[in-house]
Amino acid sequence: MHFLRFLCFAIMGHLCVMSPSLGQAANSPIHIIMIGAHPDDCDIDGGGTAALFASMGCSVKFLSLTNGDAGHQTMKGPALAKRRLEEAQEAARRLGVTYEVLDHHDGQLVPSLEIRLEVIRAIRNWHADVVISHRPNDYHPDHRYTGILVQDAAYMVAVPDIAPETPALQKNPLFLYFEDKFQRPNPFRPDICVDISSSFAKKISALDAHESQMYEWLPWIGHYLDQVPSGKSAKLQWLAETRGGKITPEARQSLDKWYGPASSQAEHAESFEICEYGLQPTEADIRHLFPMLVRH
Ligand SMILES: [Zn+2]
Repeated sequence: MHFLRFLCFAIMGHLCVMSPSLGQAANSPIHIIMIGAHPDDCDIDGGGTAALFASMGCSVKFLSLTNGDAGHQTMKGPALAKRRLEEAQEAARRLGVTYEVLDHHDGQLVPSLEIRLEVIRAIRNWHADVVISHRPNDYHPDHRYTGILVQDAAYMVAVPDIAPETPALQKNPLFLYFEDKFQRPNPFRPDICVDISSSFAKKISALDAHESQMYEWLPWIGHYLDQVPSGKSAKLQWLAETRGGKITPEARQSLDKWYGPASSQAEHAESFEICEYGLQPTEADIRHLFPMLVRH
């Protein structure tokens, strides 16, 4: 493990082009925090990228702003929140990341000052270089308000007088959005696209840990409960087939930009859009922060 970490830092140091806007040592580990509304969002939208980061020695945290206690057709309340916390912890173990679940009720999240301060403290405590969350236009109000809360934390994480008991970050992190399919007011733009073909199996394994969601709640609310297979291997295969997603033509262009000709071999990818409110990165900044983006 130590050798892998050394190898990662060596690779990252080799790849890094020092950037005045980042002002970090070339071989410093990258800290990533993904912030979702529910205890499966980060896994669904960024699990493959998180596994890649983790395998390269980077520090990855998933933070869920709600406890998921409304996401089931028969269970509810504290019993459901407890089950979902255990599922999240198992998913984290499979991905090699840290998972924290805040105790706000599912389906009732509001962009309050109190929760904004919680988000600011979480980003600071993780010493985040990269923050990834939902866009503020989404079908689910918890996703929308998570996007608002994280946007509201961008910039404020560097302001010392806000939440002064937690030291402010010296530099504003790079804020990114998870991919979605919503078209209004503007469609998602895949500024960064990560080839997750090599970590896809880990992502599916992490999703499999969220049994209450993947095999019970989401199929029930989506009216496809009858399609859920029985048996461990059949379930994993079904998840891989239904959760793989398509690489859009725009994402394929982004893959070409970041990986070169080898990108044509990518079977699975996760894309991210740059938020206008944090660090506005150069291409060198992005290659430093995403050391898996290597031209072949
Ligand atoms: Zn969600």
